[in-house]
Amino acid sequence: MSELTTLQHLIGGERVEPASGESFESTNPATRQPLYRAARGNATDIDRAVASATAAFEDPRWRDLSQTRRGHLLRRLGDLIAEHAEELARMETLDNGKLLREMRGQLATLPEYYHYYAGLADKIHGDVIPTSDRRVLNYTTREPLGVVGAITPWNSPLTLTSSKLAPALCAGNTVVIKPSEYTSATVLRLAELALEAGFPPGAVNVVTGFGAEAGAPLVDHPGLAKISFTGSTATGSRIASAAAGRFIGSTLELGGKSPNIVFEDANIPNAAMGVVAGIFAAAGQTCIAGSRVLVHRAVHDELLERVTERARAIRIGDPLEETTELGPLAFAEQRDKVAGYVELGREEGARVLTGGRATDGGLGGYFYEPTILVDVDNSMRVVREEIFGPVLAVLPFDTEEEAVRIANDTEYGLAAGVWTTSLSRAHRMADRLEAGTVWVNTYRAMSPMSPRQGFKTSGVGVEHGTETIKEYTRLKSVWINTGEEPV
Ligand code: NAD
Repeated sequence: MSELTTLQHLIGGERVEPASGESFESTNPATRQPLYRAARGNATDIDRAVASATAAFEDPRWRDLSQTRRGHLLRRLGDLIAEHAEELARMETLDNGKLLREMRGQLATLPEYYHYYAGLADKIHGDVIPTSDRRVLNYTTREPLGVVGAITPWNSPLTLTSSKLAPALCAGNTVVIKPSEYTSATVLRLAELALEAGFPPGAVNVVTGFGAEAGAPLVDHPGLAKISFTGSTATGSRIASAAAGRFIGSTLELGGKSPNIVFEDANIPNAAMGVVAGIFAAAGQTCIAGSRVLVHRAVHDELLERVTERARAIRIGDPLEETTELGPLAFAEQRDKVAGYVELGREEGARVLTGGRATDGGLGGYFYEPTILVDVDNSMRVVREEIFGPVLAVLPFDTEEEAVRIANDTEYGLAAGVWTTSLSRAHRMADRLEAGTVWVNTYRAMSPMSPRQGFKTSGVGVEHGTETIKEYTRLKSVWINTGEEPV
């Protein structure tokens, strides 16, 4: 067997060996074949990376770069991502098992993240404030923060890293990224492309490794001006406390248990497709998975029949194949976690209508069948907790009031879907649902142009759109006495 490549950290524009001298293996979850080894980062590596990002932040080559030029670099990076789209898509499919078809879709829009913030770079500015004393000129400026730490999960490493990297650089910060230990490869490649685009060495650094060994020292590093995190609510809570204790800002995109609500007046074939895509895309490993379907009793059986039929027909297999519809879970523990939840559901009294079994997909991988749970209520753990797998819980309701109550009866507030042909009901629901994103007659639509925020335990702060620039800048108020007399 040929020797595996070992990927090193990327610090200060150089490939840097880990201080520990150690590396860890990353495997293809569809086949369990080893893919590569990645540097096992620790606090010493984080120190180096933050020092390098600090030096880059203070370097006139970055600090004094005009905002227009910053925009040019972002545009170039977007173009390079487009040029390397197929390479990046395949790399991520091998690493986390997401369908290549789905990855190609993500890569088709990924350059937009950089192009959007390229266009915004020279539009970040303060205001002149008309205070009561005309002798005094008061204006504001928006300054970059300094070194931003970005910690990301394994389910969509390229996209979720870009949600942080593009606006952070757009605002003039430098960045240290700690990708998930399950998916180091594409984030390292992205940082290489940033160098190639012309970002100065040290503007984008990547330290690979585990959460406790490399993530925690990054969060705790005194040189950090901000932490931006996507991951589980449990880790997010720890990070929020650490950031608050040091008075630095944190943007947190966390978990979800999103309701997908189907009313009796909905277009049922469309709703069924939306429900299926909402939970089975990416094998349910998305924060916005529509993992609870709430369905009006009048259309319950019809919807369930359609969804079940489709779920049973889903083709499980090699994520590289164009015809495959469901890939593996990203690693063994995740597959076991999903299986454990379905067992728990059975113990709680749920009935498994379809699915409910782990399989190796004929490839030796970590697959799990598309699973539908019925006879559940909103108090069961399988309905309350994030499973992060292809497991749908179906809850009937009788009235709009009841649908709102069940939908909002959760600690999470990331997203919600509504299927109805009533315009007034659509608006009423959008108003009453406690979720940062509400989709009507669609599910999973997303754009770097559209701000998103998790409500409740699903997050803090805004990602995407112009709004997120506030998360990566600080506001300074300047007062100038324009007269000769003291005021
Ligand atoms: P996780 O919280 O286990 O890990 C996320 C990242 O944090 C990884 O890089 C990990 O190494 C690091 N980490 C772990 N412990 C840490 C610590 N103590 N200090 C610093 N860093 C630490 O999450 P995961 O399992 O990788 O990802 C799945 C979760 O991410 C799900 O809950 C999902 O809902 C959430 N997610 C949210 C969004 C969103 O936009 N809201 C998007 C995708 C995923």
